[in-house]
Amino acid sequence: MNIPQLVQSQKDFFATQQTKDISYRKTALKRLQKELIRRENDIIKALNDDFKKSEYEAVMTETSIVLAELKMVLKNIHSWSKPKRVLPSLLNFPSSAKIYKEPYGTVLIIAPWNYPYQLAFAPLLGAIAAGNTAVLKPSELTPNTSKITREIVEAVFDKNHVSVVEGGVPVSQELLAQRWDYIFFTGSVPIGRIVAKAAAEHITPVTLELGGKSPCIVDETANIKLAAKRLVWGKFINGGQTCIAPDYLLIHKSVKEKFVSHFKDEVFRAYGENPQTSEDYPRIVNTRNFDRLVLMLENEQFLIGGQTEREDRYIAPTIVDEPSLDSEVMKGEIFGPIFPLISYENEQDIATTLAKYDKPLALYVFTTRNKFAKKMIADYSFGGGTINDTTVHFANHRLPFGGVGESGIGGYHGKQTFDTFSHKKGVVTRGNWLDIPTRYAPYKGKLKQLKTLMKIG
Ligand code: NAD
Repeated sequence: MNIPQLVQSQKDFFATQQTKDISYRKTALKRLQKELIRRENDIIKALNDDFKKSEYEAVMTETSIVLAELKMVLKNIHSWSKPKRVLPSLLNFPSSAKIYKEPYGTVLIIAPWNYPYQLAFAPLLGAIAAGNTAVLKPSELTPNTSKITREIVEAVFDKNHVSVVEGGVPVSQELLAQRWDYIFFTGSVPIGRIVAKAAAEHITPVTLELGGKSPCIVDETANIKLAAKRLVWGKFINGGQTCIAPDYLLIHKSVKEKFVSHFKDEVFRAYGENPQTSEDYPRIVNTRNFDRLVLMLENEQFLIGGQTEREDRYIAPTIVDEPSLDSEVMKGEIFGPIFPLISYENEQDIATTLAKYDKPLALYVFTTRNKFAKKMIADYSFGGGTINDTTVHFANHRLPFGGVGESGIGGYHGKQTFDTFSHKKGVVTRGNWLDIPTRYAPYKGKLKQLKTLMKIG
């Protein structure tokens, strides 16, 4: 595929103004909805072929999320697109003021492999709804999902409107070398940095949905049994390969033993005696990631798990007991089914550990002390989070989803995805029937009047 040519033809198509027509966007999105429903079983199969993702998890975390977002977009596209009237300022009297939403133009979306379907289509829906033309690059690490993504897009859209470009790093680099009107990237922090640099070349606005080391704090008042249950789910769903998975656990030392016992029971209940034989337990996406994770297990003590099998890319649900903060497992984002447990005695211990890392994408607190939860929310900066559960803030489309600091720039979901892909154009329309003379020179004797007007706003 000739990438510069594709980008140019998308820009030419955008210039025809067709995508500014809401009914054009809506018709295209309805066609997409039909195709996504028609191909749902193929999508589920592709996800299973890529990393043994179960049908249940595929529906829960991929297909149903995209279909729900799409339904919401179709329902709200007209109201989201409408210019929004805001109060005019007295200084401009008489006037009216409105915010117009306009598509950026031709946008690039780069997706990761870990939720390869959802994280490709969810931003794409917003980009199309907002009236852009778009090029989507799925991850090369999940080739079956990448292929079906391309097939769906080719079946639904004019290629000048939406195209999928498959490929790995060289393709991604060639795409990034083009001039885009917006870049939406989901992936790791180091590649996020590369994307930000490429975008800076043309002052292209970006959303960077990145990762990080998301802590989970369990205090001595928490409902330990429920915390263990919810953490087993949140940590091991998708084989621990979730950007907002709790990365490591800080637990009050008085409840450590009880927690581990419940956690063991819950792993057993969820995945059986041998999780390797469970249909619900996914695999590590490739051997490179498998080897990276196995390195983290060297020289560590386990409270549960620790078993690995390279040919199957299997790593058992594992708790690493009290690793040092300098250990391999505590260096960067884990992104696998390994849960380091560090016990603490007081809030200062929590602060010391958290201070070692950059602002995380998520933070979780299990407690029955409202005051403690509020303090954690107020004291620490993080993308988003949940009290007494993990990852579920993702599922509320009314909440912005995104990072802060190294965990990312911008946020999306629901209406915010539409807004992400729209430039907000503020326009004042002046009335001609009155022209207050205060602002015009000569200024002599007008300062007091100006100050009064500025005060009122
Ligand atoms: P990745 O950064 O390796 O790859 C993401 C995309 O970038 C892929 O499409 C890949 O082809 C491309 N890419 C890789 N190297 C590149 C390079 N040198 N130049 C240009 N493009 C390049 O990430 P991944 O392994 O696919 O996903 C895992 C990471 O993504 C984790 O860090 C995770 O936390 C993060 N993530 C974040 C979110 C979020 O919403 N914030 C969601 C999922 C994953």
